[in-house]
Amino acid sequence: MLIVGTELVLVEAELVGGLLGCPSCRGVLGPWGHARERVLRCRSGNRLLRPRRARCRGCAGTHVLLPRLVLARRQDEVAVIGEAIEANVAGEGFRPIAARLGAYPETVRGWLRRFAGRAERIRAHFTRCAVVLDPELGAVMPAGSGIADALEAIAITARAWVLRFGPTEPWEIASRLSGGLLLGNTNRPLESVT
Ligand SMILES: [Zn+2]
Repeated sequence: MLIVGTELVLVEAELVGGLLGCPSCRGVLGPWGHARERVLRCRSGNRLLRPRRARCRGCAGTHVLLPRLVLARRQDEVAVIGEAIEANVAGEGFRPIAARLGAYPETVRGWLRRFAGRAERIRAHFTRCAVVLDPELGAVMPAGSGIADALEAIAITARAWVLRFGPTEPWEIASRLSGGLLLGNTNRPLESVT
């Protein structure tokens, strides 16, 4: 089963129309085949995903276009990963979360560790995003811990996004504004909001 939704059609139209910018050099991306097929575990069941690949007309670099319900190198839908993070911030441990979500405990522990390890970077990035989206935004009050502050920054950004662009799943906004690298394992900075 392939995902054929309006969103993929839109991505295709943007790609063919030269509307997608290269994240490396800001050149224009053009179509360049497809990436390897993969299974995405979603709340609604497994989906087969075949992401589009694009090539920059400027620097000739290639990029895989992931739909925003995906995070780079993660097999689970970002909304599921987000639900685990929210439950963990609320005090639940990785084993009960995994049992509830039907995920492997080690997988859930991996998400939570990565989120905790990147909490300060995530907080700083999403606080910047929120201010770009809503310049009127006041000071963001600390929520009490590294992971709670990071989650709060994502929530504030998601609210600012929805006010500006209309209803969207908060964790899909988080995926998009982190360039899919919310739980990335590199030291590369999260991408800027443009
Ligand atoms: Zn480029």
